[in-house]
Amino acid sequence: MVTNRTFTMLKPDSLEKGNTGAILEKINASGFKIVAMKQTQMSRRDAETFYAIHKDRPFFADLVTYMTRGPIVAAILEKENAVEDFRTLIGATNPEDAAEGTIRKMFAKSISENAVHGSDSDENAFIEGSFHFSGREIF
Ligand code: ATP
Ligand code: MG
Repeated sequence: MVTNRTFTMLKPDSLEKGNTGAILEKINASGFKIVAMKQTQMSRRDAETFYAIHKDRPFFADLVTYMTRGPIVAAILEKENAVEDFRTLIGATNPEDAAEGTIRKMFAKSISENAVHGSDSDENAFIEGSFHFSGREIF
């Protein structure tokens, strides 16, 4: 397992607002190399599987509706210490708590519509990247 990688999604609100380019620019400027990327749309089943860990939370139904309402950009990113550094770059789940200059502070509207996803461990980065990409789509 390669552990200098993380997985991200630009969530539907980012694409709706035309923020794809600005967010990718910030990701590049922060030293992440894009080793896989595509625009796609998750089905309800995809989102329920991807976020299965949250299935008993009160916000789960809204989360699935949000994540499936339009296209996303999914990407695998490479950098030393990728998982932790990317979580720092995106900021806290709730943009009100996110540090200045973070992606969520700049582009997220609320805790439920928060612009981007970032994996929370090397193991989940691998699982999530493999959920969206086949081996021949990763460079
Ligand atoms: P992500 O996994 O998308 O990177 P995260 O790790 O910061 O986000 P999680 O706790 O994994 O946060 O929650 C997953 C997603 O569920 C959040 O990004 C957000 O879209 C939604 N969510 C989390 N907590 C809440 C909440 N209290 N109310 C509404 N939506 C929430
Ligand atoms: Mg999470």
